[in-house]
Amino acid sequence: MDKKQKKKKTVKEIKVDTKKCVGCRACEIACSGFHAVPKYSSVNTARSRIMVVMDEARDIFVPIRAGEYTEAECNGRNRYVIDGKEYDECTFCPASCPSRGAFREPDSGLPLKCDMCENVPPLEQPMCVEACTFGALTYEEREVAVEAEPQQRGEMEIGLEQLIKKYGSKKIMDTVARLSKEH
Ligand code: SF4
Ligand code: SF4
Repeated sequence: MDKKQKKKKTVKEIKVDTKKCVGCRACEIACSGFHAVPKYSSVNTARSRIMVVMDEARDIFVPIRAGEYTEAECNGRNRYVIDGKEYDECTFCPASCPSRGAFREPDSGLPLKCDMCENVPPLEQPMCVEACTFGALTYEEREVAVEAEPQQRGEMEIGLEQLIKKYGSKKIMDTVARLSKEH
């Protein structure tokens, strides 16, 4: 029997349907406005945490959300070929990386990462999804079971376990009872 404890975690996702994206960039505008300081005080798509890769000649628009910051450029790359056109190997990468300018705050140079529009109180759905009237972005939440972090065992517990293995629990209990009386 699996004795590992399971707990529930909410996974937040934005499903992207590239066929529905028309490249209007409303998602970029909404994201940059939401993250302006103060909120909605300015719009600058260079500050957006979503970027629409556009190939208007081929009618290809791919919204990419900013992912993790990486300190070093990766040494393995993906090459995408879409409708016969080969794209630059970094084109669809969501990382803020030192080897390119994408997903960097234009003034400070600090990396930008999608935070799913954290807000108090929480938004019903992220701003980019709200702004996308073409239905290219859909917000979904689902519960997944994850394994609970194993409880850290202290050195006393580990030591006692070893003593029980060696002498048996009765002898250990008797010894503890005797010693408690003496001290
Ligand atoms: S708002 Fe929607 S349709 Fe417009 S660029 Fe963004 S994802 Fe595409
Ligand atoms: S979820 Fe929020 S932070 Fe992330 S890209 Fe969309 S608008 Fe920006």
